[in-house]
Amino acid sequence: MRFASLGSGSQGNGTLVSDGETLVLVDCGFPRRETERRLERLNVAAEDIDAIIVTHEHGDHSGGVASFSRHYKTPVYLTHGTANSGRLSGVFQQVLINAGDDFTIGSVHALAVPVPHDAREPVQFKLEASGNTLGLLTDLGSITPHLVEAFSGCDALLLEFNHDLELLMQGAYPASLKRRVAGDFGHLNNTQAGELLQRLDNRRLKVLVAGHLSLKNNSKEHALAALAAAADHHQAAVHLATQDSGFDWLSVSGDEEFSMADAVSA
Ligand SMILES: [Zn+2]
Ligand SMILES: [Zn+2]
Repeated sequence: MRFASLGSGSQGNGTLVSDGETLVLVDCGFPRRETERRLERLNVAAEDIDAIIVTHEHGDHSGGVASFSRHYKTPVYLTHGTANSGRLSGVFQQVLINAGDDFTIGSVHALAVPVPHDAREPVQFKLEASGNTLGLLTDLGSITPHLVEAFSGCDALLLEFNHDLELLMQGAYPASLKRRVAGDFGHLNNTQAGELLQRLDNRRLKVLVAGHLSLKNNSKEHALAALAAAADHHQAAVHLATQDSGFDWLSVSGDEEFSMADAVSA
């Protein structure tokens, strides 16, 4: 199994997951043309995507879903709460799930894990295929025991390092937005992400990606410093997901580097 990112952050998100048989797009926060451009960069044809699964209705995750789904006749998996937000109306085919459900798309098995975030029924996903497990965990304001249990034992993990608390508090955001971002239903700061990493069982972890970094309230250096501080809790290769380029295909098992050419044969 391998994964790649179209982009990561509050301006738009999209993560591709493929086991060579089934290709799934988790969230689509870019307009359709921009999504196509970013897919092309990863050597993916839009019509090859078997399904889109949506974490929650915030625009940076859902903004491009409906038009993409209609254009390419792609089924969309989403929770009842996300559907009820009204922001994903008009998708080609809607498959409703509940937080906590597990379901199968082709050869990929997905578990929808509920997360504390200020949306209707937000979930994040743990995906399994070919004996490997990938955790995608962004957009959460606090750590719950359930999350620690659900995301333990992953082979690869994309984890939110949203902001540096000091940069956020000293920054230009209005007080209400600062409270929202830093709150229990907002986003994980670097220190919290490091703490979560220390609480997870990471014995299998081979690939770790820091994602959903705030462009205003974080920096690569701040996030990587927090990651390094938690480094004795994992042996994983570390990558960074950016807003502009996401990241190129990574093997979940960490044993081989994929090039664009390999991705084509997916
Ligand atoms: Zn987000
Ligand atoms: Zn969100």
